[in-house]
Amino acid sequence: EGPQWEAGLEVLQALSRSGSEAYFVGGCVRDALLGIEASDIDIATSADPGEVLRLFPDALPTGLKHGTVTVRRSGFFFEVTTFRQEAGYSDGRRPDDVIFVRDVREDLARRDFTINAMAAGSDGAIVDPFGGMADLRARIMRAVGEPAQRFGEDALRIVRCVRFAARYGLTVDERTWAGVLACRDKLPLVAMERIGAELDKMMAGGDPGRAFALLLAASLPERFKRPLPAAWLARLREIVGNDRECAEPTRADTRAASAERPGLARYMPSSADADLRWAALFLAGEASPEAAEDTMKRLHFAGKRIRRIIDIVRLHLSLPARFDPANWHRSWAIGVLDRGTEAAVDWHALFEAERVRAAFGVPGELHSAVPLWTAALPAVRVADLALRGDELAAAAGRAPGPWIAVALRELLEQVALGELNNDADALRTAFLNKHREG
Ligand code: ATP
Ligand code: MG
Repeated sequence: EGPQWEAGLEVLQALSRSGSEAYFVGGCVRDALLGIEASDIDIATSADPGEVLRLFPDALPTGLKHGTVTVRRSGFFFEVTTFRQEAGYSDGRRPDDVIFVRDVREDLARRDFTINAMAAGSDGAIVDPFGGMADLRARIMRAVGEPAQRFGEDALRIVRCVRFAARYGLTVDERTWAGVLACRDKLPLVAMERIGAELDKMMAGGDPGRAFALLLAASLPERFKRPLPAAWLARLREIVGNDRECAEPTRADTRAASAERPGLARYMPSSADADLRWAALFLAGEASPEAAEDTMKRLHFAGKRIRRIIDIVRLHLSLPARFDPANWHRSWAIGVLDRGTEAAVDWHALFEAERVRAAFGVPGELHSAVPLWTAALPAVRVADLALRGDELAAAAGRAPGPWIAVALRELLEQVALGELNNDADALRTAFLNKHREG
């Protein structure tokens, strides 16, 4: 259904007309069966990449090595990948080689989980050799084939298992969970960049609190190539109420992270903005801003995102611990000067839900007041001041230097707090008076 599927169907039909087999495959089939909108629609075909390129002359050879060609149709992009197997996972991370195959079932067999290993033909018939539909119905997360072997081939699948289980509210099948625990010591083989991308999808998806609880239950973050900070993880574990790790596969207790024990979920903002959720996770675990920054660097986050998240964390930490009403306004104003108005808006969004405010002890009155306080600030950055740095230097009769930034910042604070009018004469006078005293 929908224009994207229509366009995808045209691609399938064009491939069929040329005598090849073609299917929708993977996540889009899973999401369609769940009645969820798929993020992207992937297509698998028996045609080799050369044939696909001939059939769609404007297609882009985006991943020829893996048999992938990107086809554009009605403004939508489709990754069309030749049926393939992967061979020789000698290093526990990436296949050494791909082998094109003729049968869609062989292609499905290389996929990680039963719910991700289904294909749908243009007639709507589903190819489901591993019981993905039954598992979806029973809400079970299950590896395709022998779990320990599959996790051993590519240890990233361990993290993906947690991600999909949390996103769709699935219970991890016992043997699959045993495989997770048996193979978790191979996690250091996985590039932190790939782990970062999975964790980030986890945080952006449904139930990030449970996702993190599952990671903790299996003690995965301490096993990454670059482990996440221990003190932060320990504090998160206390919140989850799960301080023992699942040492024995047979006692695999994925229920420790179930919906009945909300734990971390209470701290997660309802907004799907992953940056807000990361900020909440750092604050919940009482990570220092330095530890939070270090964590995100380890996970290869872009610098811009790191700064955004850290600003939210720092703004929150700068507010009085017990939110003493007498200091609210002043702390908020200074927080906005230090961290910027974007952080102010983000902080407000993070604490939108009553549940989250309760978890962090943020009073509702404070939350509803801050947007007004921000809007009422006469100045929020040095550039808002009616006096420039060079004008200040001229008035003081001093050579420009680092002292200017300090002086302007002091003036900004007085203006923002309403102690000083924002006009050039008042600012000049205030500065000169202060220096006469000093
Ligand atoms: P999302 O909606 O999060 O993108 P997805 O199922 O599309 O979910 P992708 O990571 O985009 O997940 O991968 C597409 C498909 O490729 C999966 O559904 C799965 O069949 C297969 N796949 C991806 N990564 C792996 C892996 N590491 N091992 C085995 N199969 C994988
Ligand atoms: Mg995808």
